[in-house]
Amino acid sequence: MTETIEAPAAVKPIHHWIGGRSYEGQSGRSGPVFNPATGRQTGEVDFATVEEIDRAVRTAKEAFSSWRALSLSRRTELFFTIRRLVDEHRRDIAKLLTAEHGKVLSDALGEVARGIEVIEFCCGIPELLKGGFSEQASTGIDVYSIRQPLGVAAGITPFNFPAMVPMWMWAPALACGNTFILKPSEKDPSASVFTAELLKEAGVPDGVFNVVHGDKVAVDAILQHPDIVAVSFVGSTPIAKYVYETGTRHGKRVQALGGAKNHMIVLPDADIEMAADAAVSAAYGSAGERCMAISQVVAVGDVADPLIEAIKQRIPKLKVGDGMESDSEMGPLVTREHRDKVAGYVERAPEEGATVVVDGRETVPEGDGFWLGVSLLDNVTPEMKAYQDEIFGPVLGVTRVSTYDEAVKLVNENPYGNGTAIFTRDGDAARTFASNVQIGMVGINVPIPVPVAYHSFGGWKASIFGDHGIYGMEGVRFYTKLKTVTARWPTGIRAGAEYVMPTMR
Ligand code: NAD
Repeated sequence: MTETIEAPAAVKPIHHWIGGRSYEGQSGRSGPVFNPATGRQTGEVDFATVEEIDRAVRTAKEAFSSWRALSLSRRTELFFTIRRLVDEHRRDIAKLLTAEHGKVLSDALGEVARGIEVIEFCCGIPELLKGGFSEQASTGIDVYSIRQPLGVAAGITPFNFPAMVPMWMWAPALACGNTFILKPSEKDPSASVFTAELLKEAGVPDGVFNVVHGDKVAVDAILQHPDIVAVSFVGSTPIAKYVYETGTRHGKRVQALGGAKNHMIVLPDADIEMAADAAVSAAYGSAGERCMAISQVVAVGDVADPLIEAIKQRIPKLKVGDGMESDSEMGPLVTREHRDKVAGYVERAPEEGATVVVDGRETVPEGDGFWLGVSLLDNVTPEMKAYQDEIFGPVLGVTRVSTYDEAVKLVNENPYGNGTAIFTRDGDAARTFASNVQIGMVGINVPIPVPVAYHSFGGWKASIFGDHGIYGMEGVRFYTKLKTVTARWPTGIRAGAEYVMPTMR
């Protein structure tokens, strides 16, 4: 079945969402939003001023005291309603993703499903916030620890998961009792506004969840605002580093997740068919625009030739096309500029000494969409740009090495540390790899090891700044501060003494 995206009569204006309603930006600055499959502009998104960020922060600050005071049972009830509404509208959200990001609808539905898992986790927040109690820590003294919300938190998100990554942030932030300001990517902002509408419909009070759009001006205003206490960022490594350094300099708690270069090691004993299937889906799914995409296969020993052959055979069967067409398996890239940048790596590969086995520039669908077919490069070595850079497109490189140790060295010496995978039938090798490799998320015969919502997500090295994983218990810890109370409970009011409320003393 092919679904259609209704073509807007005119370019749709996309506004901020502040205090529970749409707020038209006053800056006079805005950015275009495209349908990458047609190359046509479909939206124009407002870019916030410093004053507009301040307006959103004031609204969120005002909403904080009553939101944090809401009983856990009521907050939980709201989260069940949010879960139901997002579930009911999962197709609507997915269509917005396909329309502005370009990923195929099945992939977009998968993104929403993974986001819903985080909301489901947050439905159990009373259990997670329960705290600890030690009776009689000393004679007559009890000690208890509780987790309290921080205040106004902000999230700055990338283009490649316009629904799921915001859910990684706002769901635990709100569940823990914080209010939230989301600055989504300016390339595909509509899903965030739709989410805001759903949260309002669910009964989340005005001001608890706000969306501001924009570029560096908006981000800097967030990072410098004295009333924002915590910032979550997901995006490229240079901006993650900047956000971490600037935000912490302004006294904020910051978690900043960056880019990646994920290696998949294939040992000679691996199931070649399984490894080839995994490499194709992990490298080319979502047009390679995933921070956990496999962009580099490391083929150990004599596995390279049969593996490359198996991958090569699969590539012509991969249908590149409009994400709304049901048989499309890979959509366009997000913008024309990004498509051209990715194609540049394939163009320069032979000059660098790599072998172009499949050239994606030769297999693009017709039309003005931001199309690029899938590419496979062999004999890629660590000195090449195609190896060093996070290409973030449908380009898979293969590096040939002789031994397991050489393969692991490559992974460990890489500046990024987001994800990696090993394909082998050797349990010892797999276990040793998982234990020793210097990477945050590891797959054993699983190419994209994104953890389930009740674990946490986070890379190592240049893939994270701030050392706080996102969602799961790491999310709960990030969005709360610990308080410990040591109590010698009063045993009663002295006879004859007048009781005075502490606040009136
Ligand atoms: P990006 O860094 O360009 O943008 C991310 C956010 O930062 C956006 O909201 C953008 O508006 C803002 N931004 C961009 N330039 C800025 C600047 N100069 N100053 C302040 N703010 C700025 O990232 P992207 O292209 O949207 O997303 C792709 C990147 O995100 C890839 O590197 C990918 O690996 C990474 N990513 C990482 C994870 C992870 O969990 N580690 C997940 C998804 C994406």
